[in-house]
Amino acid sequence: MDVTSFTIDHNTLKRGVYVSRADAVGGDFVTTFDIRMKEPNREPAISTAAIHTLEHLLAVYLRGDAVWADKTVYIGPMGCRTGFYFIFKGELSAKDVMDPVIKAFEYAAGFEGDVPAAASEMCGNYLDHNLSMAKWESKKYLDVLYKI
Ligand SMILES: [Zn+2]
Repeated sequence: MDVTSFTIDHNTLKRGVYVSRADAVGGDFVTTFDIRMKEPNREPAISTAAIHTLEHLLAVYLRGDAVWADKTVYIGPMGCRTGFYFIFKGELSAKDVMDPVIKAFEYAAGFEGDVPAAASEMCGNYLDHNLSMAKWESKKYLDVLYKI
């Protein structure tokens, strides 16, 4: 098994936006980004409820973005709860995606109202949400993104 992201030393990995891998699919590329919100093994991971809410909010933003909706293949939380995987169409660098990544987290940080799709018919664990912590985690990560 060759999984590039497992060969990176997670004990020294910093918060940020990283290219995890680029894969050729049907004559084009898709690029997987490591949206690393926490320093692995050195600070507490994001709570399951907060990362679940973030998944809903980031997906709503990216699926609706005028430019990036079309290029967004997938977004999903890392099992270790230290960040997300974002997959976009194209062979891209971290710099190429900073704009939609920042906008998605700004959307989450400023979100007011009911968590989108947090209802039993649309979500597999609709009671497991925490909007205030999702907003707090977004603001904390934006401090990192603005410095990149
Ligand atoms: Zn859900």
